[in-house]
Amino acid sequence: MPDSNIKSPESSASNGAAQIAAERPIIVKGACVHNLKNIDVTIPRNRLTVVTGVSGSGKSSLAFDTIYAEGQRRYVESLSSYARQFLERMDKPDVDFMQGISPAMAIQQKTTSSNPRSTVGTSTEIYDYVRLLFARIGKTISPVSGKQVQKDTAETVIHELFEEQEEKTRFYVLFPIDLREGRKLGEELAVLKEKGLVRLLNIETEDIIDLSTDELNLKKINPDTHRVLVDRLAVKKDDETRSRIADSVETAFREGHGRCTIKLRGGEELRYSERFERDGMEFLEPTPQMFSFNNPFGACDTCEGFGRVSGIDEDLVIPDHDKTIRGGAVAPFDSPKFNKYLRDFIRVAAREQLPIDVPYKDLDKETRRILWNGKDGYAGIHGFFEDVKSQFYKVHMRVLYSRYRGYSRCPDCEGYRVRKDALYVKVGDLHIGEVSEMTIGHARDFFDDLKLSDFEQEVAGQILYEIRKRLKYLVEVGLDYLTLDRLTNTLSGGESQRISLANSLGSSLIGSLYVLDEPTIGLHPRDNDRLINILKSLRDIGNTVLVVEHDPEMIKAADNVIDIGPFAGRYGGEVVFSGSYDGLLNSKSLTGKYLSGRKEIEVPKKRRKGSGKSITVTGASEHNLKSIDVEFPLGAMVCVTGVSGSGKSTLVHDTLYATIQKELGTWKEKVGRNRGVKGLKYVESVEMVDQSPIGRSTRSNPATYTKAFDGIRDLFAGTRQSKIMGYSPGHFSFNVPGGRCEACQGEGIQKIEMQFMADIELVCEECGGTRFRKEILQIKYRGKNIHDVLEMSVSDAIDFFTDEPSIINKLQPLEDVGLGYLRLGQSATTLSGGEAQRVKLAKFLSKTNTDHTLYFFDEPTTGLHFEDISKLLGSFNELVNQGHSVIIIEHNLDIIKSADWIIDIGPEGGFGGGQVVATGTPEEIAGVAESHTGRFLKDVL
Ligand code: ADP
Ligand code: ADP
Ligand code: ZN
Ligand code: ZN
Repeated sequence: MPDSNIKSPESSASNGAAQIAAERPIIVKGACVHNLKNIDVTIPRNRLTVVTGVSGSGKSSLAFDTIYAEGQRRYVESLSSYARQFLERMDKPDVDFMQGISPAMAIQQKTTSSNPRSTVGTSTEIYDYVRLLFARIGKTISPVSGKQVQKDTAETVIHELFEEQEEKTRFYVLFPIDLREGRKLGEELAVLKEKGLVRLLNIETEDIIDLSTDELNLKKINPDTHRVLVDRLAVKKDDETRSRIADSVETAFREGHGRCTIKLRGGEELRYSERFERDGMEFLEPTPQMFSFNNPFGACDTCEGFGRVSGIDEDLVIPDHDKTIRGGAVAPFDSPKFNKYLRDFIRVAAREQLPIDVPYKDLDKETRRILWNGKDGYAGIHGFFEDVKSQFYKVHMRVLYSRYRGYSRCPDCEGYRVRKDALYVKVGDLHIGEVSEMTIGHARDFFDDLKLSDFEQEVAGQILYEIRKRLKYLVEVGLDYLTLDRLTNTLSGGESQRISLANSLGSSLIGSLYVLDEPTIGLHPRDNDRLINILKSLRDIGNTVLVVEHDPEMIKAADNVIDIGPFAGRYGGEVVFSGSYDGLLNSKSLTGKYLSGRKEIEVPKKRRKGSGKSITVTGASEHNLKSIDVEFPLGAMVCVTGVSGSGKSTLVHDTLYATIQKELGTWKEKVGRNRGVKGLKYVESVEMVDQSPIGRSTRSNPATYTKAFDGIRDLFAGTRQSKIMGYSPGHFSFNVPGGRCEACQGEGIQKIEMQFMADIELVCEECGGTRFRKEILQIKYRGKNIHDVLEMSVSDAIDFFTDEPSIINKLQPLEDVGLGYLRLGQSATTLSGGEAQRVKLAKFLSKTNTDHTLYFFDEPTTGLHFEDISKLLGSFNELVNQGHSVIIIEHNLDIIKSADWIIDIGPEGGFGGGQVVATGTPEEIAGVAESHTGRFLKDVL
């Protein structure tokens, strides 16, 4: 077994006894949470353990609801008494005995931050360190001269003199006459005279006026050319001269209100200032707050730190970034009426030699600036819209304007979100906004290459180390394609989880228990290795890692595997196998059978040709897409593949799905940029079957969602007893008054609101959690009351209602997608993302619609075991056989190999992706050497 070779300082410092305690395994005895059947498990410490099993078998109940929950309780216990007072209110997991649990960290797929300003940079602390770095070693560059703004001291003045002037060079130490704030020359000179500063030097002629002897003629004194003379000296690099110069310069700074100049005899005048200024502008000295867009001091005033202001949307004005300006890139100018603006621009462009025959996307910043803001005779796109605005009394002008309204880059901070003067500060020639817009991969190269002087190393070495460390971990978890300024609320669950993972690695906590939920989600098989290595290094620095996972590579890499099953729900909850990977292969466990190849998802013998019709997206160029044309065959099962960040969601969700929805009138958001979508007429409706919850209400459940409950209520209302009592189907609903328990309004539970923490739910005392009134519960259908029915699993209900086709038809699809274990009344809020997705799928399968529907799935295998995937494929085939079309974004090879057609996007993530690498049947893709997907397909076909 691989042993820890990276020892952290803490672990080597710990004493012998603690060492032994640290080696004790985690022991769980008699776990009964949810469906777990009083199980015992042992988890070796400082090892990587994978918990696997079919969906719903009880993996999360063991890993999260039992082990992690206890770790968290123990953690709270170790905190202050203030925190501990809440401890007894935390649910204790239903388990007899647990030992060896250390403080636990759960890394789940939920986005942890709902702050709309949070970015990848802020949530990883990288931005905080970068702010510190800029404050410590940033060079403020004056926008006027492009020269560095510095604060001078006697020390820096002498340093410069000694470095740059030759021995014996004669010079004057001076300071300017300060006439700001309404001071009068005569009065100022009188004050100086009193202090004994009686000589003035004309820096042009080097004539000296002595105020104590010469006749004072104010007309002859000009503050622009006359300076107050403090001393006359010559460069001589010895201590005595040095201290005399220092005294004089200090005097000059003091009397000159922070300013001092050195005039070389017969040479130039060098200006110095104790203030932070240059070119007549005073600058703010960099502080970390100045670079924070999350506080009013640092945020740009115009956009309040959002980087965008409402106005004109660039993408609406320039719908196709591949067009050239002459070729009509600017949509509003492309009409006879406003063609004048285009001609104006072309005239300016000819004079300024701006390119008008290159695609918009390749234009340099300056050309874009002139195009938008105007110059000379040309009003600019912004000016054009101002003209439009001035004619708002005309309806068609208002309509025209509204067509282009949206968000645009903030004109003041140029979208960089921070106050303008913060952008004068540079590190390695870039300002903080330019650093933020880099991808993590580029940022890593930038900071790795950054060279520090000895002084900078001293004040910022540690900060740079922290930045480099964090970037390195983010690259390792496969997120090199994300930009630091990417908003965290636009990340996928898998991406967020990998960010948390990188954060944990960076925090280098040891002796902890990490619990992860399917970390491979969203990762292409190509990147699995890297992720596995990270989990191993987390283990090697002295942590226990527990991963709920289905991925074969991950299971293979585990030191220890726990297989929960054999099936789902009440048919699961047992430990089928616990031990090494090799042991698993030879065990009777279902997972072992698949992994050893004794059981497998077969490669289809034939690929469907599809209906011959197709839908084609042309010129897709949102985010990283490189203006691609993609044809999606209909009447087939199409899989869109590619590494994480390659552009799959942008193409499928933001562009294709959004366009169809917009066509159907149900899309309000932005549609990914494209030149057109052909074949829309072949699609009558679309459904996105994703992992979002099917309802936030505890009242929604599989029975109500599939509408099977309607038939069930009719049955109860139709019983003789019911008729005698005059009950209608409504009496058997827990959503409306009548039959339901009013104490809990049919919830079965009562919520107690708690201060400082989540609400506590208690079983309703009135109905004992049955949700209905006693009289209603007396009505029985074949010996069961309505509450008994809601407690049944879907599988049991199918047996029970065997003679009722209308109910069976609704429930059978749940069974078919592998959800037979769900209880009819199980609240939708307790379903996992994968379960919710399959409940939706079941609903569509039960529909007998003849409209041609295009179904979209986004990683439907999340949370699924081989066995579940096999069932899921059955459902996809069912949809296609009914005449519908299916488009799936997927990384799972069992799904990919079963597709009729593959569209492989890439080759890499982010900027290096966005192209169509290959299209074809799985066999054809396997033959494409450049396709990462192809390489992996080859092994499974
Ligand atoms: P897995 O993680 O293996 O997919 P879970 O541990 O989530 O399975 O679920 C095991 C069983 O417990 C399933 O039947 C599931 O429906 C049920 N279950 C999960 N969460 C809850 C809950 N909060 N309340 C009641 N039952 C639950
Ligand atoms: P995939 O689905 O293949 O993982 P995406 O389509 O999500 O890839 O992402 C493609 C590229 O577009 C990536 O570089 C990603 O960072 C970027 N991207 C995706 N969504 C956004 C967004 N909302 N804002 C900015 N960039 C985005
Ligand atoms: Zn701004
Ligand atoms: Zn009640």
